[in-house]
Amino acid sequence: MNVVNDIHSRLNETTVDEIVPVDSLESIGSALARAHATGRPVSIAGGRHAMGGQQFCSGGVVLDTRGMSRVLALDEVRGLVEVEAGIQWPALVDALADTPWAIRQKQTGADDLCIGGAVSANVHGRGLAYGPFVSDVESLVVVGLDGVARTCSRDENRDLFRLVCGGYGLFGAVYSATLRLGRRRKLERVVRLAHASEIEELFAERVEGGYLYGDFQFEIDPASPGFLQHGICSCYRPVPDDVPLGAVTRLSAADWSRLLQLAHWDKTRAYEVYAAHYLATSGQTYLSDRHQLATYVPGYHWSGSSEMISELYVPRPLLADFLAAAARDLRALEADVVYGTVRLIERDDETVLAWALEPWACTVLNLHVEHTPAGIERAAGAFRRLIDLALERGGSFYLTYHRWATRGQLLAAYPQLPAFLAAKRANDPGELLQSDWYRWLRSTVELEAAA
Ligand SMILES: Cc1cc2nc3c(=O)[nH]c(=O)nc-3n(C[C@H](O)[C@H](O)[C@H](O)COP(=O)(O)OP(=O)(O)OC[C@H]3O[C@@H](n4cnc5c(N)ncnc54)[C@H](O)[C@@H]3O)c2cc1C
Repeated sequence: MNVVNDIHSRLNETTVDEIVPVDSLESIGSALARAHATGRPVSIAGGRHAMGGQQFCSGGVVLDTRGMSRVLALDEVRGLVEVEAGIQWPALVDALADTPWAIRQKQTGADDLCIGGAVSANVHGRGLAYGPFVSDVESLVVVGLDGVARTCSRDENRDLFRLVCGGYGLFGAVYSATLRLGRRRKLERVVRLAHASEIEELFAERVEGGYLYGDFQFEIDPASPGFLQHGICSCYRPVPDDVPLGAVTRLSAADWSRLLQLAHWDKTRAYEVYAAHYLATSGQTYLSDRHQLATYVPGYHWSGSSEMISELYVPRPLLADFLAAAARDLRALEADVVYGTVRLIERDDETVLAWALEPWACTVLNLHVEHTPAGIERAAGAFRRLIDLALERGGSFYLTYHRWATRGQLLAAYPQLPAFLAAKRANDPGELLQSDWYRWLRSTVELEAAA
């Protein structure tokens, strides 16, 4: 027996039967066959950052994909790279460093995330006019439950492609992904302080002005009138290639660690320090790929607590209204906000379990969670309230985090869930690929309905 957990929230301690490292197509096929023969369910894990048990299955076999980390092919003419699904962002960014090509987007806040995890959660970064990650995927090689490897794309095995992207590892193991790259650019960071009421217009101006990336990181102190209202708007615009990179001011790992402590104990001071740092970096030049890499401080919590993240979506004209309501309710619920940011997403018309149903404004909130029944319930209640606020405004929420949404919230945000679950049963009647998140989803959506 082995005990596993997710990296960030550490709220998903799971006892699994076996962890099987895989490093090739063949090893995936034989691991699936062996699990099938022994009647054990299989979950697939990459960087283990999902926070609702999407990568683990109690009593099952975990395929640990991190050994599949090679770059398989680079098409320098078309800007396509084929990588094994266990490769993580820093290795991919480094592998492309001597070419004119660069990744287009990655998640913010952490780097030790695998491409298989990015495909399966259909992630996004801080691109101002980007759709979710599926738009960066040209094709996939997926090992099915029969052990057969199939290429899937918009032209070949299209239904499988639409299910695997954003399908949380339930429709096959991604062996490799061919990704669409962008030309590496130099970008200037432009920073100003802003109020939530200006952000929709400010982001629209930035997009109009050709800026490629941006976000609005807001105040986190509920005692301040600026809570979720005032923030740092940082956007990145292309500059000519001959602009020198120069020396840049950046936060060290120790600075990040101090900031994280302040974000727990002196939230106004944390914001002041963070804002002063960002304002000092306005005008600095970055590379379009490296500026997306992040410093992740592992294990900064005292034991028995951590953070949980959620991401809420609303139509862009309702962002300011949503943030005002969220500030009011998070204060009332005494939620402990440690970090928050807003960014944009374009619509995803391709995946079955699409979350980006509209060109939305995305609000990310990290809440501190004490690992006691009362502490967990306090965070869960706050996130359920945030989901309600988003739904009341015609919005939605992201599934890659906790398992705290209600059945009504799940179905309101994801009306396609019954079809997704039916496709799962049709593709995998024996439910070889499972996770604790899948078991929760299935029972919440289907068994509660039957009752
Ligand atoms: C600090 C932090 C910051 C984050 N920031 C963002 C962000 O900015 N944007 C965003 O969109 N998300 C963000 N996330 C969420 C994160 O991107 C997703 O949870 C992502 O799936 C994690 O990737 P991973 O490699 O850790 O995968 P894991 O957690 O190991 O797995 C996640 C899912 O992918 C599946 N999977 C992994 N590899 C494969 C494979 N080879 N084949 C099939 N299925 C596979 C797993 O079964 C599971 O369902 C963040 C999470 C954290 C903790």
